[in-house]
Amino acid sequence: MALLAKINSNSHHSQEESQFARLFEEEGIDRVDERLTILRIFLGTEEHITAHELWELAQKAGRSFDPEFVRETLRLMCRYGFAQRREFKDRESVYEHRHLGQHHDHMICIKCGKIEEFVDEKLERHQARAAFQHGFYMLQHRMEIYGLCSACLSDRQMGMSLVQAKSGETVAVTDFLGGAGARHRLMTMGLKIGDRIEVITNDGRGQVVLAAGNSRLALGQGLAEKVMVQALPSVVEDF
Ligand SMILES: [Zn+2]
Ligand SMILES: [Zn+2]
Ligand SMILES: [Zn+2]
Repeated sequence: MALLAKINSNSHHSQEESQFARLFEEEGIDRVDERLTILRIFLGTEEHITAHELWELAQKAGRSFDPEFVRETLRLMCRYGFAQRREFKDRESVYEHRHLGQHHDHMICIKCGKIEEFVDEKLERHQARAAFQHGFYMLQHRMEIYGLCSACLSDRQMGMSLVQAKSGETVAVTDFLGGAGARHRLMTMGLKIGDRIEVITNDGRGQVVLAAGNSRLALGQGLAEKVMVQALPSVVEDF
């Protein structure tokens, strides 16, 4: 299956190289041979890469280009439909292949930065239907899921302190550490063992803001460290 995909994408790539050369010559774009080299290097990776990373790949392949020339070629590749630029939250723009007639979406790990691609036909139809039901004419869309990849998730201890939980995560309180004083304070704030809480903000700099039932609580680092929690897997229902 994976091998088949590889073979298909290779034949796509040789088609793309010849279209690129023809189109760029017709359009009177200069230095087509050098740009073709950049396209080949770009098509040789299946990663989502920055302009700088593409320049580095070229260096490794023994081709030294002016970084601005690489950037300009990428812009042309986007304009003529060979590449597409993606903007993900909190990171530099990346470029990926643009294979005609193919669409995919992304899952982005906020811990290691890994970008995974996925295709879900059912989800695509749901999105198209949602737009249609709103009388909205959809031109394009993107679906981005931010979270932890399976490798990062399994690295994580099953039990962790609240300070390690991420903003947006729902966790269950499993224990309170520290002496009776800390326990008492947490309990008077309304927290109980077994509670399901949603982490609203955890910027990693100390304070954790969370929702427990209908109330919002702000815990300083000292107190947040004493709350042991367990990540709750996202619920997947068959629909
Ligand atoms: Zn999609
Ligand atoms: Zn990861
Ligand atoms: Zn992609």
